[in-house]
Amino acid sequence: SKTLIPIFADQLSHGLSSLAASDQENAVVLMMEVAAEAKSVPHHRTKLIFLFSAMRHFAKELREAGWTVDYVEMTDPENTGDFTGEVRRAVKRHGTEMVRVCEPSVYRVLELVKGWEAALDLPVSITFDDRFIATKEEFASWADGRKQFRMEYFYRDMRRKTNLLMDGDKPEGGKWNYDKENRKPPKSDLKFPEPLRFQPDAITQDVIEMVKTSFASRMGSADGFFWAVTRDGALEALDYFLDYGLERFGDYQDAMVGGESFLFHSLLSPYLNVGLLGPLEICRAVETRYLAGDAPLNAAEGYIRQIIGWREYVRGIYWLDMPDYIDRNHLNATRPLPDFYWTGETDLNCLSQSIGQTIEHAYAHHIQRLMITGNFALLIGADPFAVHEWYLAVYLDAFEWVELPNTLGMSQFGDGGMLGSKPYASSGAYINRMSDYCGSCKYDVKKRVGEDACPFNALYWHFLDRNADTLRGNNRLAMPYRNLEKMEDDVRHELMDQADSFLNGLSTSKSEDYL
Ligand code: FAD
Ligand code: SF4
Repeated sequence: SKTLIPIFADQLSHGLSSLAASDQENAVVLMMEVAAEAKSVPHHRTKLIFLFSAMRHFAKELREAGWTVDYVEMTDPENTGDFTGEVRRAVKRHGTEMVRVCEPSVYRVLELVKGWEAALDLPVSITFDDRFIATKEEFASWADGRKQFRMEYFYRDMRRKTNLLMDGDKPEGGKWNYDKENRKPPKSDLKFPEPLRFQPDAITQDVIEMVKTSFASRMGSADGFFWAVTRDGALEALDYFLDYGLERFGDYQDAMVGGESFLFHSLLSPYLNVGLLGPLEICRAVETRYLAGDAPLNAAEGYIRQIIGWREYVRGIYWLDMPDYIDRNHLNATRPLPDFYWTGETDLNCLSQSIGQTIEHAYAHHIQRLMITGNFALLIGADPFAVHEWYLAVYLDAFEWVELPNTLGMSQFGDGGMLGSKPYASSGAYINRMSDYCGSCKYDVKKRVGEDACPFNALYWHFLDRNADTLRGNNRLAMPYRNLEKMEDDVRHELMDQADSFLNGLSTSKSEDYL
């Protein structure tokens, strides 16, 4: 009997469980470019090009490997524009008797797939996604009975489970975590590797033309695309990082430099998230470089922690708390996002640099996402759902399961501390310490009030002040609250007025306006 195997954009792995469970002779793979997904939020053009091109290349590789692949392009006049519609059409086309699909990574799509049996009147088998280190059940039982979740403890379990950087049952070097060594501010004479650039081939060129016409008003240019779109390319990108980035990845992980978009970061998240690379193969390769003496322990441990720690941990939280998680808004923040998030037009240099490179490359590194765009949205009280939509739209690596907990939880404290123990709120001083942005900004990072005072400073106190009822009891905020309470009344009023007038001057945006 014929089996239909739908494969989604982030399931581009040759070992995918739905393929492994099927027999080539009796199966048809279905891949679909659907408008409902492309239009759910205003995805960046670079992201659309990356996804559609990687899908088309994967379909070609599957055909070369002997699979029958039915590929529905965006511009196919018969394309119904959504997954269920396309699966229904394909079932008819191929006289399929059953559907086998690898479990989708996003809650909404999993619910959709669960409804297929009834909608299509066919058996639907959902296969386990084995491309992660922890299963959802494993995370749920780790979380069960804990009052507070902390990534660090989960991470240690994942180190033991994978045996990465372990010396028997002890962590390599004696410590689990070398993060303290990973906070070096940028030095002025640092030289960063250029990202490895891949020439678009004919398939990618076609996609670029399609995106140019079908998504004319989206963020980003369709020209200058340089990302890899195949597994071979992704493996080259991994080697390139191991050769040129890893050694100094740890030291400068939190640094930000004007005009430099990539520093020593790996740029591997897009490949990992669509399945062109696996988390364990990356981590083993990093460990091998450390064991060969090519990379220090703080770099290797720091890198591996991001993948087997943070990445798995946020996925666990997502599945633990969805569908409620997406609507959480612990601080009752309701302000629309300022429109410069979409245009980059702002005179705050740190924001203009971080948003500017996001518009150019659909990429910003972690500290820019957390401490610049995220911190600013938190300080102004932006609606966490609007912030989520922005992050989901603008980054090449953004898929809801990983983006949402990072944005709504880690960065906006919308989950009230389920994921992290305190809000990542900071004044200009932190930005000044970790970047060279302030030196060429029209605002003065040392000033709290006055026309040229850095807006982050007054906003920081305004944030603490207006959220005092909710946050004062948080131990990790005890010191700033003490400072706020010690403040003279007139100083405090001046700061609040300064922040209020800045907030009143902010423009607003709706994500639909950028579709
Ligand atoms: P590197 O700095 O080289 O890090 C190595 C790898 O570690 C990354 O490739 C990534 O796979 C993993 N990693 C690091 N931090 C995290 C984290 N917090 N959560 C999950 N994985 C992590 N990452 C995404 O993959 N998709 C997202 O949509 C996403 N949205 C984010 C939104 C916000 C507000 C914040 C603060 C972080 C977000 N991150 C997201 C995490 C992180 O910023 C990116 O993974 C990283 O910047 C990707 O670039 P890189 O590959 O050069 O990373
Ligand atoms: Fe950003 Fe303030 Fe520094 Fe300007 S002075 S770059 S606004 S932190």
